[in-house]
Amino acid sequence: MSKSLQAIRGMNDILPEQTPVWRYFEGTVSRLLDNYGYKQIRMPIVEFTELFKRSIGEVTDIVEKEMYTFDDRNGDSLTLRPEGTAACVRAVLEHGITGGGQVQKLWYIGPMFRHERPQKGRYRQFHQIGLEVFNLDGPDIDAELIIMTWRLWGELGIRDAVKLELNSLGTSESRGRYREALVEYLSAHHDKLDEDSQRRLKTNPLRVLDTKNADTQAVLVNAPKMADYLDDESRAHFEGLKARLDAVGIPYVLNPKLVRGLDYYSKTVFEWVTDKLGAQGTVCAGGRYDGLVEQMGGKPTPGVGFAMGIERLVLMLETLEQIPQELSRQVDVYLCAFGEAAELAGLALAERVRDQLPNLRLQVNAGAGSFKSQFKKADKSGALYALILGDDEMARQVVGFKPLRGQGEQQNIAWDALAAHLATCVVQG
Ligand code: ATP
Ligand code: MG
Repeated sequence: MSKSLQAIRGMNDILPEQTPVWRYFEGTVSRLLDNYGYKQIRMPIVEFTELFKRSIGEVTDIVEKEMYTFDDRNGDSLTLRPEGTAACVRAVLEHGITGGGQVQKLWYIGPMFRHERPQKGRYRQFHQIGLEVFNLDGPDIDAELIIMTWRLWGELGIRDAVKLELNSLGTSESRGRYREALVEYLSAHHDKLDEDSQRRLKTNPLRVLDTKNADTQAVLVNAPKMADYLDDESRAHFEGLKARLDAVGIPYVLNPKLVRGLDYYSKTVFEWVTDKLGAQGTVCAGGRYDGLVEQMGGKPTPGVGFAMGIERLVLMLETLEQIPQELSRQVDVYLCAFGEAAELAGLALAERVRDQLPNLRLQVNAGAGSFKSQFKKADKSGALYALILGDDEMARQVVGFKPLRGQGEQQNIAWDALAAHLATCVVQG
């Protein structure tokens, strides 16, 4: 017997009953980004492997063990994108759209791929909405990114369930000095570190701050703090950001251990975290990466961005029961027709109504059927009203108009008056 075909572990179908929430979420975010003046960019899902190695950093979890990498038929090493920033930087450089200091405020949406251990809120194909801003180096734009997400949580009804964590990694100079101090301190406590942290101490010491290991965490209590190593420029930038968040009234907590998984961050780093999703608590994360564009072969270009995980935010909406009621109804009106002549007249009538009410969600019965079976389908569709066309109605050029949810008697409406009548009783999105 042949094995039944299955999707790859950690790569999910998003079924029709789930897509309304996804579309609601995506629609809400894209409207908000439009309103703040951000423009969408769409990059390929596959890029040369080299791009991610150079931008994300060789000694990060992503590049070391999470990438889907393969040789294509030409022998080129390609990788399914694990995140969006690298490709976005590649694209703006390739097309010269950040040259001469041009400001770009860009966003993207789509699937990302990481070979992680699948669990709730962590998948191998997952989806992000990400945003990148180029050629603005002040804290005002860092603040704007955070303010936008704050507004988003408000619109989605999840503001009380998320918390903003903030840190500054400083300029690369101050980070360099901090790294030295940290390495010196951790080396003196080498034996008390977990194995992973011992390895990171050599490859990517700042990541040790990120450890979940209790013994290593105990060692870190007295470790040097990044905040003490910030130079004047980094300090002023960080203060400028905090002042703006205070001005808008956005609460935050400073988390000196927040370093982020990717190599390329500098100055501002932030995460929106929740305790509603178990272990996978970060729903949105980002920061400034002023050195990245140059590192990737461009002219020095400041950059700042974030990405949010759509699966985790959809889970939040579900967990907190913040899915708008109206999403559950997909059909406004269901047209039933009995007999071939009525079917043909019904089709033409439906198209006339759609001409006049382009936002009406009108479903025409397909597959004919008895009175009883068509009504059952009308009811099951969730429609508010059924339209009925039989011999009687045909003869009088009217349509039966039957409320399916509660109030009101069935009445006859003249074909010519149908669109106007529907406009008065169906609220259209
Ligand atoms: P984590 O610490 O949870 O692994 P990360 O730091 O690797 O996250 P980023 O690369 O910053 O994550 O991605 C931004 C956001 O994308 C995360 O905050 C999260 O919401 C989401 N995300 C990242 N990896 C996954 C995944 N494997 N499955 C689902 N969502 C993810
Ligand atoms: Mg990760």
